[in-house]
Amino acid sequence: MASAVKTPAAAAVDFASAIRTIPDYPKPGILFRDITTLLADPATFRAAVDALVEPYKDLKVDLVAGIEARGFILGGAQAHQLACGFVPIRKKGKLPHETVRIAYSLEYGIDEMEMHRDAVKPGDRVLLTDDLIATGGTAEGAVKLLRELGAEIVGASFVIDLPDLGGRSRLEALGVEVQTLVAFSGH
Ligand code: AMP
Repeated sequence: MASAVKTPAAAAVDFASAIRTIPDYPKPGILFRDITTLLADPATFRAAVDALVEPYKDLKVDLVAGIEARGFILGGAQAHQLACGFVPIRKKGKLPHETVRIAYSLEYGIDEMEMHRDAVKPGDRVLLTDDLIATGGTAEGAVKLLRELGAEIVGASFVIDLPDLGGRSRLEALGVEVQTLVAFSGH
């Protein structure tokens, strides 16, 4: 019989070492922080999800909203832990029903994201999630979309913060509390 995966306290987990760094991907000068190595490690993945939900356990979260695509992996697990629903925030053209859309800037380009118009009801308490916050352009777009639908944003959670790019401050300026597990300096 396989032994159960134990969850170490988040403080004892070296999340940074579980993340692989790929230089010059997808563009020269970018240090791509690849969380697939963290996700593939049972104890670290579990510890990351546990740490990401901890501050929100008693905050009556109705929905976790995950940003495509790595936010789906984390967000689904977080929603399960919080016993709440999950809604996807997707790149344009992927969702089948009526959508709301917003353009946003990201560290390496500009894009548009969408949600189903009926995915969130006014007053729903929503936790936003993604793997990484860099400039905060993606998360800011998501916050605006969610608020357009009447969501109350309980917080925004990310495994990785790139503080030199200012995303955390950008979200905090919108009145959104930010939680991250590990920070890397530079891009
Ligand atoms: P930003 O909008 O600048 O905060 O960029 C955040 C989004 O782009 C997230 O969805 C990340 O997955 C992705 N991203 C930006 N920079 C990186 C990076 N250095 N490594 C991995 N993913 C990144």
